[in-house]
Amino acid sequence: MRSPRVLPAVVVIVGLVVTAAPAQQISVGRSSQSRPLALIGGTLIDGTGNAPIRDSVVLIRGPRIEKIGTTASLPVPGGYEVVSTEGLTVLPGLWDLHVHLMYAGHPDTRYWFDTYTPQFERVIMPASAEQLLMAGVTSVRDLAAPPQPILAVKKRIASGEIAGPTLYVAGPALTKGGNPNAVQTWNVSGAADAAEKTRQLIDDGVDWIKVVNAEALTPEEMKAIVDAAHARGRKVAAHAFSEAEIRQGLIAGVDDFQHVRTQTPEYPPDVVALIRDRVRSGPPLYWTVTVGGNGQLNAAYLASNPEFLDDPANFIGLPQPIVDDVRKAIAARTQAGARRGGAAQSQDEINAIVKRKVAQIRELGAQIVFGTDVGSWGEVTGHATWMEADLWVRELGMAPLTVIRGMTLDAARAMGADRDSGSIAEGKFADVIAVRGDPLRHIDVLREPRIVIKHGRRFK
Ligand SMILES: [Zn+2]
Repeated sequence: MRSPRVLPAVVVIVGLVVTAAPAQQISVGRSSQSRPLALIGGTLIDGTGNAPIRDSVVLIRGPRIEKIGTTASLPVPGGYEVVSTEGLTVLPGLWDLHVHLMYAGHPDTRYWFDTYTPQFERVIMPASAEQLLMAGVTSVRDLAAPPQPILAVKKRIASGEIAGPTLYVAGPALTKGGNPNAVQTWNVSGAADAAEKTRQLIDDGVDWIKVVNAEALTPEEMKAIVDAAHARGRKVAAHAFSEAEIRQGLIAGVDDFQHVRTQTPEYPPDVVALIRDRVRSGPPLYWTVTVGGNGQLNAAYLASNPEFLDDPANFIGLPQPIVDDVRKAIAARTQAGARRGGAAQSQDEINAIVKRKVAQIRELGAQIVFGTDVGSWGEVTGHATWMEADLWVRELGMAPLTVIRGMTLDAARAMGADRDSGSIAEGKFADVIAVRGDPLRHIDVLREPRIVIKHGRRFK
C-alpha cells in the first residue's frame, strides 16, 4: 500500500547546496512592548468576513487590541509607538489546527523518533514553534506528541520565555494495538482504561483528545474516550483515514475528523447518512481536511518545485547538524521516490477524489477546518500554511475572504477561543500580522508577513 506520506514518484532532487539556516535571533524580552502600539495606514481585513477597511488604525495596549478605526476617524493619541502599515494588509494572526511541532519535515519518522526524541522539548519543538510564528501563524493545535515535552513547550510559550504561537495540544493520541514503545501514542485496553487515560491527559493539561486508528478500538472504548473528554469540557479529534474509523467516530460522537483519504472515490451512502444525521441533530461536526498534505493536492506542485522543502525558513532555530540531517534525508527520499515510480493512483485521480470528498463534507453541512499537518514530510513550516490557503482558493473554489475567515475567526470558534482571539476586534488579544499586497487578489501574499504581533508583542 502506498505510504500516505510519500510525495509522488516525480519528485526530483532537492537542492543539495546547504547554507546555514540563519538562526534568526528573537530576543523575546526586547520585543515586549513598553509603549502602546499604533498600526497606521494599511487595509484591514478583520477576520470576520466583513469588507476590508482602508486607511485603518489599530491601537494595541498591552496584550490586547484597544481600538480600531481609520486615519480619518481615529487620531492616534500621544505616547504610542507608531508603525506604518501603508502598502500592507493587516490581518489577524493565522491559525493552523493540525500541526506537529515534534517533526521537522524528516521523511523517516521511525529514525526521527529514535534519534531526536530526547531533543524534542528543548530543541525541536521550540524551533518549529518559532518557524511557525515567523510565518505569521499565531495559534496552532498540535495533534500528537509525547505529553511532557509538548506541555512544557506550551507553558514556556505562554509565559513568554520562548517565541511561538499560542499552543493547543492533544499530547499522545489514544489508540489500540499501536507500537507500545511509541512516545506519541498511548494504547488503551478496555472502556475503563480508555476513560481513565483520557482523564489523565486532561488532568495533565491537554486541550484536546486525539484518537488514531479508531477502528481498532471497540465501540465501547471509543465511546468511553469521547464521553470522558466531553464530561470535562474537552473535544475529540480523530483520524478519518478509513471509512471504518469515520463510522466509529460518528457513532461515538467525535467532534473533528482529520484528513481525507483517497482509497475510495467518495464517501459511501451509509457514511453520508451518518454524517447527515449528526449534522441535523448533534453538536457541530468539524473536519480538518488538510487537502495539501500527505501527497495530495500539493504533491505535484512540490514535485516540480522542491525548492520550497529546502527553504531556510523551515529550519530557523535548529542546530546545523540537525538541519544537515533533515536536508540529506529529504534529498535521499525525493531521489528514492523518483526511482520507485508507479503510484497506484495518478495525481489527477488523487486530486479529483480529494475535491469530491471535501465537496461531500461541505454539502452535508460539516464545517471544514483549516489545518496542514505541518512538520510532516512535505509539509514545511515556512510554507504549508499559505499553500493550504492557496489550495482552498484555487482548487476548492472558495472566496479568499472566506478562506481568511477560515484561517482566523472560524478556526478560533472551532477551538472555543473566539471570545478572545480569531479576529481583530476591540478587547481581543492583539494577534496581528501584516502582509505586503492584497490577499483577496493573491492569497499567496500570506507567505511573507512583514509584521507579526502576538499578544501585543512584536516578533517581526
Ligand atoms: Zn498529523
